Order: sequence, then C-alpha cells, then structure tokens
Amino acid sequence: MDVDRLRQDAAAVLADGRARMVIGFRDRAGDRVPAFITDAEQAGELLYDEACRQNLAAYLKKAELKRFRPVAIVARPAVMRSLVLLAAEAQVADEDVLVLGVSDDQEYHGILDLAATAALLNEKYAEMPHDPDLVKRIEEISAMTPEERSGFWTEQFARCTRCYACRAACPMCYCTQCIVEKNVPQWISTAAAGHGNYAWNIIRAFHLAGRCTECGACEAACPQGIPLMLLNVVLARDVEEEFGVKVGYDAEAEPVIGSWREDDNEDFIR
Ligand code: SF4
Ligand code: SF4
Repeated sequence: MDVDRLRQDAAAVLADGRARMVIGFRDRAGDRVPAFITDAEQAGELLYDEACRQNLAAYLKKAELKRFRPVAIVARPAVMRSLVLLAAEAQVADEDVLVLGVSDDQEYHGILDLAATAALLNEKYAEMPHDPDLVKRIEEISAMTPEERSGFWTEQFARCTRCYACRAACPMCYCTQCIVEKNVPQWISTAAAGHGNYAWNIIRAFHLAGRCTECGACEAACPQGIPLMLLNVVLARDVEEEFGVKVGYDAEAEPVIGSWREDDNEDFIR
C-alpha cells in the first residue's frame, strides 16, 4: 500500500485543522498497535499492512478521546461500515470524523468524509465475501441437531473468563452501562461459569444483530479463542435475509434492532 500517501494525508489533516487527532497503526516490537497522532510531525510513524486488524472506530466511544474530535481514522471497509453505522445510530456526527480509507487488499482510498465513505462502500464493497473456512464451519454447525449445537456452544462458552475484551474491541458496544454490570436487579450472573457465561455471550451477539459489521475484532481480542464470528455472521446473514438490510452502508437508515414495521415477519413468535 502507498503508506507515504497515508502519512502525507494524515499530516495534512492535522496541519490544516481538519482533524485534531489521527488514529492509525504503528509498529511496536513487530506488533501492530494503535497510534494516536496529534502532531503532523509524527505522521511518519503511521504504517498499514494486513496485520492491522483492530477496529479503530472503537476508540470513538472513549470519553477521553472525545475532546480530540474531529478525528481521522484509518479504516478498512468493515471499519468504514462501523463508522457509517455509528452515524446512523447518532453516535458520531458528520463533522466528527474523517476516514483515511484502505482496502483489504492494500489499496489506499485517500481522505473521505462519511458521505464519501458510504458512497465508496456502496460502489466498491457492496458485496464483502466471507472467509470460506468460516462459511464451512457455519454449515457444519447448522447441520448439527439442536442438542449437538447446544453442546458445542456450551463447551465454547465454558471457556469464557468474562474479561469483556470482546466488548471493548467492538465499536458498537457503546452503552454507558452494560447489562452485565447492572446489579439492581442483576440480570446475569457475573461469575465466569455456566448460565452466566451462556447468557453473556448470547446477549452480546443478539445486541449486535443488525449492528455487527463483521470486522472480526471481537474474536481477535478474545484471549480464550472463542469463535464469536460463527455467531456474528449467522445473525448478520439472518438480518439480511429477514429484513433485507445490510448494515453500515447508509447513515440515514433506521437501525433494524430499533425500528418496527407493521409488515415485519412474525413467524418466529410461537
Ligand atoms: S461484534 Fe465483533 S465483528 Fe461485529 S462489529 Fe463488533 S467487534 Fe466487529
Ligand atoms: S473476550 Fe472472550 S473470554 Fe473475554 S468475555 Fe468475551 S468471549 Fe468471554
């Protein structure tokens, strides 16, 4: 990828005041870690390659970063979708964010506002194919009996330590008080075991139905290697099939989870 152009654009938006901070990636001992750049002179630290997988839009929910808006964010297509969706959910305004767009195959798209980001997504990334191994695994699990499937997930969720790294990594998990932290009444056991683990993981996935842009950051952040994308992708696919909605392509769209129509499919109510 043309990293020099990315660095030049980052320096330009900081120098002329279009952004007060650039959030991108830098190297730390061979790892790719977030870079928070406020000085145009430091833009040379930025880099981008296929190891830069974190969803940097998650930093927009940090209270301590709000004073640096407008922020320019290095974003691949799934992250661009998160940003468009955050705008649709009124979590960011057009003037809060600029995108330094990169493709998954290392093409640099330049500086984009949210409208240009949505236009690029619709024009170039309207179809974002899934990893074939993930699709195969979903098919295998779908072919299981309900008992086998329940056993599979019970085994997976038993490993959850309730560290909530998945929540921290996700830009769409921005509630100021998460359901797992409510204790009057307590909805979910906070012990890292049994029903509480099951409830947490199912609720996390369902709260993101119609809101997940399939960036993979939650699964990558999970220290227990729980295959969260198996759930995320099934729910995203169901939302697309049942409601005809692909999330993160239209900043004016009503969120699926927060809207209701008289002709909504009610077959699932028994
Ligand atoms: S749930 Fe996971 S894959 Fe979906 S947007 Fe959040 S971090 Fe990305
Ligand atoms: S990151 Fe993994 S271990 Fe931590 S709460 Fe999420 S699913 Fe559980």
